[in-house]
Amino acid sequence: MTDYKELANLLFPNIDKTPDYYEELYPLRKLKEGARVTRFAPSPTGYLHFGNLYTCMAAYVTAKATDGVFYVRVEDTDQKRKVDGAVSAMLKGLSVYGIVADEGVIGENEEKGNYAPYYQSARKDIYQAYAKSLVMQGLAYPCFCSAEELDEIRASQENEDIKGYYGKYAKCRNLSLDEIKKKIESGAEWTLRLKSPGDAEKKCYFDDMIKGKIEMPENIQDIVLLKSDGIPTYHFAHAIDDHLMRTTHVVRGDEWIASVPVHLQLFKVLGFKPVKYAHVAPIMKEENGGKRKLSKRKDPEAAVSYYAEAGYPAESVNEYLMTILNSNFEDWRRANKDADILSFPFNFKKMSASGALFDYAKLTDVSKNVISKMSADKVFDLTYKWAEEYQPQLYELFSKDKEKATAILNIDRENKKPRKDIAKWSEVLDYIGYMYDETFTPCYELSGNANPKLAVNVIEEYLKVFDINDDKDAWFNRMKEICPLVGCTPNVKEYKAEPEKYAGHVGDVSTVIRVALTGRTNTPDLFSITKLLGEETVRKRLNSALKYYKEEA
Ligand code: GLU
Repeated sequence: MTDYKELANLLFPNIDKTPDYYEELYPLRKLKEGARVTRFAPSPTGYLHFGNLYTCMAAYVTAKATDGVFYVRVEDTDQKRKVDGAVSAMLKGLSVYGIVADEGVIGENEEKGNYAPYYQSARKDIYQAYAKSLVMQGLAYPCFCSAEELDEIRASQENEDIKGYYGKYAKCRNLSLDEIKKKIESGAEWTLRLKSPGDAEKKCYFDDMIKGKIEMPENIQDIVLLKSDGIPTYHFAHAIDDHLMRTTHVVRGDEWIASVPVHLQLFKVLGFKPVKYAHVAPIMKEENGGKRKLSKRKDPEAAVSYYAEAGYPAESVNEYLMTILNSNFEDWRRANKDADILSFPFNFKKMSASGALFDYAKLTDVSKNVISKMSADKVFDLTYKWAEEYQPQLYELFSKDKEKATAILNIDRENKKPRKDIAKWSEVLDYIGYMYDETFTPCYELSGNANPKLAVNVIEEYLKVFDINDDKDAWFNRMKEICPLVGCTPNVKEYKAEPEKYAGHVGDVSTVIRVALTGRTNTPDLFSITKLLGEETVRKRLNSALKYYKEEA
């Protein structure tokens, strides 16, 4: 019988703290019943993927909805893959979408909260204290197998259903204390392995918050807990950190689901109460009639930075995220038009178990709706800020006259039925381009009954009576008054009853003016546009159009 205590001291001579010490240092949180403690646990290896934001949002809203705690832990045990600045970039990415951690990592090498440190690289002693305690109980052992030896073991398992380091293949499981001592004295490297108590015949059951009841064979692998440099594997760090930080719900990508039997076994041997799991399926995209994962390589929208660059307001992205997070969000939104997203009763059970679909058309719709409800001041502010970074031309136009810009953006806004034309700020310049001479491109194509001949007549008559000081009623009366002079009727019904009698109706008359002034057949309120263009521009554009149509007619 190995003397486990002696072995533990041999392996961890400098570790003097025990699990009891840490249990006391990190007490249970005093939260109200049902409060959920969740976390986002990125590895600082790159940029924020839309899938990360999606998963993180689920973790965040469930903590908020239950008056719980949401924290950020940085999983930086792999120093080789660490990317400088990745932590602050991720935190910034999250904060754009309103996700601000209650505790944990709040900046590059900056943290707050009673469960610190939240950087795994600073928790080595904690992991080792638990490792030492497992060794002391005969539940973990050092393994001296080299990479080549592990390859040999694999090669010998060709006919085994289960491959890996277990049972009779676990060569170092039963080394004697003397053998271990000799190896260590000779300077041999070792990893620490779990002495798995699993039984291949038995099942492990758990109830995933998203995927439902799951049954898998128990883990029998003597998995590595500490690598040869004393750094924990993801599995070991997950169990210890989520236990000591008193996480209640682990919300993570479903690539980890196959490891749950390992994790539950670790919780058991460590004497921890298991956490609840919510495994989030990756976001999917439709392609060629099939589905595939949203891909960092192929899809620009996979990077969270894409949305800011394209000019989607954060509110739109949040609203869209919620619609794909919970299938009933849209119904809730219809019934709670102005409510804060955080008051939505988020439910893991209503998340897609197979992967939410990224739907561009839906994002566009949602965003148009969100933007249509914003005040003109807000639309101006957000567009202006966006343009400063991404569209110098628009920024310059807006800078010249902010009041005019706001008034332009206010056309058909701040009323009961605002127009829903803009989905992202990168569309604004094109949308309102005709309001500035610098960006107006005439296009004299007409629609409906309007043709060059009618256009000549209409513009000639309109130029005679046009008055920039008209109010909306007077302006519209002018349109109607022009009708009989150009063979049209002011009354659309009348036109419909006897179309052959008329050259068109009042709608065709205003189409001519609209096209002449804006180069478009469809615009927001023409009266407001006319006012904002001002007398000089209106006359200039009408005359140019007249010249064009005279040549055409
Ligand atoms: N660092 C892990 C990852 O990035 C976190 C998984 C988890 O949330 O536990 O995949």
